[in-house]
Amino acid sequence: MDRPALTSRLHGFGTTIFAEMSALAARTGAINLGQGFPDTDGPEEIREAVVAALRAGVNQYPPGPGIPELRRAIAGHQRRFHGIELDPDGEVLVTTGATEAIAAALLALCEPGDEVVTFEPYYDSYAACIALAGATRRVVTLRPPGLTIDPEQLAAAFSDRTRLVLLNSPHNPTGKVFDRAELELIAAHCRERDVLAVTDEVYEHLVFDGRTHVPLSTLPGMAERTLSISSAGKTFSFTGWKIGWATGPRELVAATQTVKQYLTYVGGAPFQPAIAQALGLPDGYFADFRAGMEAKRDRLCAGLRAAGLTVFEPAGTYFVTADIRPLGFDDGHAFCLQLPERAGVVAVPTQVFYDDKDAGRPLVRFAFCKRDEVIDEAASRLANLTA
Ligand code: PMP
Ligand code: GLN
Repeated sequence: MDRPALTSRLHGFGTTIFAEMSALAARTGAINLGQGFPDTDGPEEIREAVVAALRAGVNQYPPGPGIPELRRAIAGHQRRFHGIELDPDGEVLVTTGATEAIAAALLALCEPGDEVVTFEPYYDSYAACIALAGATRRVVTLRPPGLTIDPEQLAAAFSDRTRLVLLNSPHNPTGKVFDRAELELIAAHCRERDVLAVTDEVYEHLVFDGRTHVPLSTLPGMAERTLSISSAGKTFSFTGWKIGWATGPRELVAATQTVKQYLTYVGGAPFQPAIAQALGLPDGYFADFRAGMEAKRDRLCAGLRAAGLTVFEPAGTYFVTADIRPLGFDDGHAFCLQLPERAGVVAVPTQVFYDDKDAGRPLVRFAFCKRDEVIDEAASRLANLTA
């Protein structure tokens, strides 16, 4: 066969950097600060709720939009934390992780030739799903140290072909939390151009230093044009369960559901009631979770600084980005490939999330959603790099 097996739309996408780096960690036995997953499980009572559901026979296809109990819990969560009112029947869709919600939304909402405005560095599945939808990405670059939006670059990213803005806040990989003024700026373009917004808010509960997460949909004129996506993986430290959701206007949710039903149809039957229970945990759970992760942020940032890297302290998420140039390296990809051997640590090169490779070349992402002793061991190994 002359023709490559993989569709040209995904030419150049290969294996995800997360899979590549986790395989490297497994192969070398290095500490994995690459892929973002916690090394301890979430609440025991929620794990037990899955066991109980399995034993009670919750093992067949759940309803297409998700079980009513979970849809009500998602609506309740949006009201409790963000003051957003949703009808669980029609404005809430349960998906197989945020990943499926993002894919289904982009495939549902875009026509070939449409443009999607997003920010780089961008989460890898955005580029792939935009490409699968036959759309084109128009990126706005967030540059350290400030990671602020360049208003001119933002304005220039919009055109008559813009269909939607795809916004991730809190932002992976940088840990940036878009502030209200930046959100206002994005919202103004959306309203002016009459374009949609799709938001990825999977780190909504990981916002540090007293900041608050502001959903784009809560800004004036945005509720009617925003599909908001989140997931249970990060918030409850069960990244392998893959229960996510999309919420917003009926028409956007219905369009997303139409695609979703042909991707997975449904998923995660015994996890759905457990996540419904998790979403109802008291405020203290969410506050403790955030405080615990903030302490880990501080711990790893201090360790990376002590190791000589330039650290861009994240305002949220699981991740910290560092510049490796003070260590005498300038290419993050080469650095990350050597790191297991040189220091017994795995990290993720940020340049793979940029179209402007030069902007990301010296940047490396480290995950701090790990036990304290693991963070400390990784930091002391990194300190030996220059020794
Ligand atoms: N969006 C971002 C920004 C992420 O970091 C991740 C990784 N967890 C996802 C989406 C995917 O979420 P899920 O695991 O729920 O599919
Ligand atoms: N979201 C996780 C990260 O950014 C990884 C998820 C994945 O492997 N697709 O590291």
